[in-house]
Amino acid sequence: MITLALSKGRIFEETLPLLRAAGIEVLDDPEKSRKLILDTNQPDVRVLVVRATDVPTYVQFGGADMGITGKDTLLEHGSDWGGAGNGAGLYQPLDLDIAKCRISVAVRADFDYASAVRQGSRLKVATKYVAIAREFFANKGVHVDLIKLYGSMELAPLVGMADAIVDLVSTGNTLKANRLVEVEHIMDISSRLVLNQAALKLKREPMRKIIDAFASAVGKV
Ligand code: AMP
Repeated sequence: MITLALSKGRIFEETLPLLRAAGIEVLDDPEKSRKLILDTNQPDVRVLVVRATDVPTYVQFGGADMGITGKDTLLEHGSDWGGAGNGAGLYQPLDLDIAKCRISVAVRADFDYASAVRQGSRLKVATKYVAIAREFFANKGVHVDLIKLYGSMELAPLVGMADAIVDLVSTGNTLKANRLVEVEHIMDISSRLVLNQAALKLKREPMRKIIDAFASAVGKV
């Protein structure tokens, strides 16, 4: 049996066509079903739909053999910095090129970010992505106080709680609707396939088949 952990929400919707192209059809509708383990048209493949941030954890601890989640989530989990970290045991063989967006710094339209940086001001930055933000501002030599939030980061500068946010931007509509402007493009983000290395050793053949099917489906959906 191969267990595949998928991220709920936006990534899930973009993952389904890719799964289909790879010959895997999820039989239950995760929106309607209360089942936590979903069957597929392949009797030896089952799917878990979990929070994006939990996908690396399920794969790392063997609750799933493989998973699909954003590079943002993997970086925050500590599995993509190139070091051992707490992400050891996770192997990332494939960029699936879905759920593409960027991670950016945004501020209120009336906040002069460039001068604040030039003057060496200490910035209050609200984000869900504290590891990515810490690394980015440290490399830039900007001192920051990070405020951890779990959602709706855009609110923080509007209510005067932060000078800037670090968040995912796709169309830019959410920023625009809240009179925020993008001032730094930190990196491009897309969803990746991650594997549990021990599972790959034990189930090499069936996992290889799925990885190859994904690899040939990338870019075709
Ligand atoms: P947009 O208005 O299209 O720029 O989308 C921005 C909002 O959607 C922000 O609240 C982001 O956190 C969220 N978002 C954008 N792209 C993604 C993605 N690929 N995965 C998850 N959330 C995203």
